[in-house]
Amino acid sequence: MADRMTPEQRHRCMSRIRGRDTKPELVVRRWLWRQGFRYRLYVKTLPGRPDIVMRKWRTVVFVNGCFWHGHECQKHRPATNADFWREKIERNRERDARNQALLQAAGWHVIVIWECQLNAKNRAETLRELDVTLSRIVLQASGVYPMRYHTPDEGQTPIAAEAAVSYDHKTSTGE
Ligand SMILES: [Zn+2]
Repeated sequence: MADRMTPEQRHRCMSRIRGRDTKPELVVRRWLWRQGFRYRLYVKTLPGRPDIVMRKWRTVVFVNGCFWHGHECQKHRPATNADFWREKIERNRERDARNQALLQAAGWHVIVIWECQLNAKNRAETLRELDVTLSRIVLQASGVYPMRYHTPDEGQTPIAAEAAVSYDHKTSTGE
């Protein structure tokens, strides 16, 4: 990212790390809606105010901007005040990790989708992987597909950070 923003613009950006209704978010929301998933947005009572919350499936989705959340795809840092921004972004990453850990400890599935995974080139593949991840969650909650049967070969999918906790407790609120 080129360092073209004025300090005021930067400040506005930083004051709201998690934007609302960004284009990548809309891509995910439209897709979810078409698949029949229902959700709430920006639930303040959950750690990190997740962008998308599917309470029925005890699943939250964060759609992260690559720059502010420090995705590995970001090779360029602002040329001016490089240390300042590196520190800011590092703090964002730490906060993201902390919030995800809190959610997972409370039994939520946490899915993270990065902005760059929703660009024209990667979008179809990302949504296909999201489909697989959510299918597993739904089947697991239905008791058809116990977690232990698919954990060993599941691996780390690019879009999903699955909780490393057992889901014996409250897999679904049944709402
Ligand atoms: Zn990225």
